[in-house]
Amino acid sequence: MPKRTILLVDMNSFFASVHQAEDPSLLNKPIIVGGTPNNKYKGKVIAASYEAKDKGVYTTMSMYEALKKCPNAIIVERDHTLYSRYSKIIMDFLRVIGPIEIASIDEAYVDITERVANGTAPIKIAKYIQEILWAKLTLGCSIGCSSTKTSAKMAADIKKPFGYVHLEQLQFCSFFHPQKLSKLHGCGKKTEEKLNKHNIYTIGDLAKADPLHLKLILGVRGEWLQKVALGKGSDNLNTIREKGDKTIGKEKTFSQPTSDSEEILDLAKKMIELLCSRLTNKNLRAGTIAIVYKKHWEEGRHSKSITLKHGTSNPEDLYSMVEKLYEENLSEIPIVLFGIRLSNFRENSFIQLTLF
Ligand SMILES: [Mg+2]
Repeated sequence: MPKRTILLVDMNSFFASVHQAEDPSLLNKPIIVGGTPNNKYKGKVIAASYEAKDKGVYTTMSMYEALKKCPNAIIVERDHTLYSRYSKIIMDFLRVIGPIEIASIDEAYVDITERVANGTAPIKIAKYIQEILWAKLTLGCSIGCSSTKTSAKMAADIKKPFGYVHLEQLQFCSFFHPQKLSKLHGCGKKTEEKLNKHNIYTIGDLAKADPLHLKLILGVRGEWLQKVALGKGSDNLNTIREKGDKTIGKEKTFSQPTSDSEEILDLAKKMIELLCSRLTNKNLRAGTIAIVYKKHWEEGRHSKSITLKHGTSNPEDLYSMVEKLYEENLSEIPIVLFGIRLSNFRENSFIQLTLF
């Protein structure tokens, strides 16, 4: 597989910044999002602008503590509808740059491999994203660039706000290997404690640990975490839109990895039957058919899809496409989860009308 180039775009102090973008009189002022509708001095800090963070305010701190640290802070009530609206605008913009995977309301991976292959430097693309988001929305973001998702994510965390850090695998290793395990994305406190007991303290210790020993400590997860420590995590973006886009699907997790194509395609057939009856009930055709899968339990879902011009609700058509996707991408490969997703729906009546 050729090396991919992936950006992680992380919005800076997203909730607080959105309030500043909506009301420019709040720009460059200490903003705290939090409080309760009855009492703004109660509850916990949900978000804070950099001006408030500079005074020592952080998320999850009590409002009482926060206001002691930053008495002149402006308190704003949270507004999730507003954040979702901004998030959608940002994601729609990023989708123009390349295929994206939405990681959270204010974070997305963007695959820029194709643009880089056509001669545009990653830094140029990153700076363009930062400039446009600032010019159009008055929102800042930090961007990390690397050949895997986790490395890009960790690179983005190095410099905030408005940072851009590009780390190739070797640079990733020399930067992160001396650092503590808590800096490793995906390594929680419990895992860190477990590894510490076996004299694994730094990301570098984990990278050079005996794989079998790791497997004993962490199970199959050990293998995955060691890959991440080596800057070799997944570079496969789950580009299916989870939110806002209507999707119907079915999936199954296996208790053992399987590459038994007969078993999997049999399962696919049953899933398609169920999904097709739901399509027919709603008088819909699916324009996009995707298979989703995981090769390891800990990783995110991968997907491969086919998009049809007119869509279909015919089980046999759908099955032959699923079979094609499976044969092309997963034949002989052990997987631990398999599923089918349909999206991009059109109404049957609309299709009939366009035929005239
Ligand atoms: Mg963020």
